[in-house]
Amino acid sequence: MNIYTKSVHTGVSIDKTFNSVITPIYPTSTFFFDEIGKNKGYDYTRSGNPTRAALEANIAALEGGVGCSATATGMAAVSAVLFFLKPGEHVITGNDIYGGTWRLFNSVLKPMGYEFSFVNMRDLSAVRAAVRKNTKMVWIETPSNPLLNIVDMGAVISLARKIKSLSVVDNTFLSPYFQKPFEFKADIVVHSTTKYINGHSDVVGGAIIYGNQQLHERGRFLVNALGVAQSPYDAWLVLRGIKTLGPRMEAHQANAIKIAHFLESHPCVKKVYYPGLKSHPQQALIKEQMKGFGGMLAFELKTKKVSLNQFFKKLKYFALAESLGGVESLVEAPWFMSHASMGPRGLRASGITKETVRVSVGIEGAEDLIADLTQALKG
Ligand SMILES: *Cc1c(COP(=O)(O)O)cnc(C)c1O
Repeated sequence: MNIYTKSVHTGVSIDKTFNSVITPIYPTSTFFFDEIGKNKGYDYTRSGNPTRAALEANIAALEGGVGCSATATGMAAVSAVLFFLKPGEHVITGNDIYGGTWRLFNSVLKPMGYEFSFVNMRDLSAVRAAVRKNTKMVWIETPSNPLLNIVDMGAVISLARKIKSLSVVDNTFLSPYFQKPFEFKADIVVHSTTKYINGHSDVVGGAIIYGNQQLHERGRFLVNALGVAQSPYDAWLVLRGIKTLGPRMEAHQANAIKIAHFLESHPCVKKVYYPGLKSHPQQALIKEQMKGFGGMLAFELKTKKVSLNQFFKKLKYFALAESLGGVESLVEAPWFMSHASMGPRGLRASGITKETVRVSVGIEGAEDLIADLTQALKG
């Protein structure tokens, strides 16, 4: 089945009572039993709910996993996955991962006895050198946030396999429309569905997708035990959003390509980070593992010519806001905003500067977006 068809149809038609085309919302905490031990497959909404199950079936089909847990937020998904490990076990991850994930690992789990190595994951020898006897998980984010560095999924996942460690890919930035980590034998894929999967900036959510049945069972157990599942209302919104994932991703990308080229030739811009530009240094890898470039880009503003605040204030269509993946364009400064919790040392190690601007390119008309950037860059 084509991915457009899957996103419109999978899991959706569950109303056999009235044949409603759209999945009903089941706002119930509990479900009655016909007799002891006999119900219709659901007993309590923390452990399972038909609306959420429809979304889970849809996301699992798009990623190509055996099952999915829809969670309250992306960080709820990340947190639940870390419960696959015990204190004393070790995780290898990138030094430029999502700021909230970095904070959970560094400021919450590390003090509890979990061990982390934050390395430059583009450098396979650095990943290999970080392996310890107790390494139990390799956490990959590609392309990275915000500098769009690409991690070689095939190579890193096969290393993880060799050392009998779980491989997890945060696929938020490209979505299953442009990247399928299970094709590279990842064990688990996670998403902040807040971003492209929902795509309309009107809900927070997350997803864990499992590569095999054993992980699926353990994951569902953890999500229920921890109580981090998504509410039926929110699941319904994400299910509405996901149906247009393909057309939205194409529109985001078409605009991002035009804006990346525009910025690259602008005198107030020092450097542009975007996988769709020839100047991106990882061309071979991009071709090998990505089906598209996505809608996120970053650039270095020459702040001697135009100050950050001046630039942000003048923009009309790009709201100054964290988050990404919605139909409207957003800009932000990772050093001061989304990634500030990493502190100056962590920020510098990841290559973020005070002049880095991150752009989530929306699906507005490209000519309006470029005209807006043009006037804001006049200083
Ligand atoms: C936003 C984001 C998260 C966290 O998701 P929330 O829904 O904000 O909790 C995790 N990973 C990446 C790559 C993200 O962009």
